Amino acid sequence: MQVDDCLFCKIARREIPSEVAYEDDEVIAFKDTQPIAPVHLLIIPKEHLLSVNEITPEYEPLIGHLFGVIQRLAQELGVTESGYRVVTNTGADGGQVVGHLHFHLLGGQALNAKIG
Ligand code: AMP
Ligand code: ZN
Repeated sequence: MQVDDCLFCKIARREIPSEVAYEDDEVIAFKDTQPIAPVHLLIIPKEHLLSVNEITPEYEPLIGHLFGVIQRLAQELGVTESGYRVVTNTGADGGQVVGHLHFHLLGGQALNAKIG
């Protein structure tokens, strides 16, 4: 299911332009418009899930697949060996701004211990 007024659903539907790095039937990855590192992608399920809180067991294959996509993108972007960080902000205290589950892939430089 997708949500009409969700920013990332609109990106998934290609209604809002983005720099897409990967796409398949279940997952899309695109560049963050305000990157905080040389590599900064957002990887999302196309299905609208609000946050980690909505990852019930039926979504385990999807999330496993999504992490396979993250591995592949890390390889393509050359950060597999140098290292990278996957961040998922959840809820207000977690600093989540966009209410559609997303994983930040950050790398290309030594990252500060603290993000956000
Ligand atoms: P979060 O704080 O985890 O919810 O992060 C939301 C992220 O979405 C931020 O890093 C924003 O820079 C990014 N963002 C917001 N609008 C867009 C957009 N239209 N395309 C790509 N990234 C976006
Ligand atoms: Zn959405």
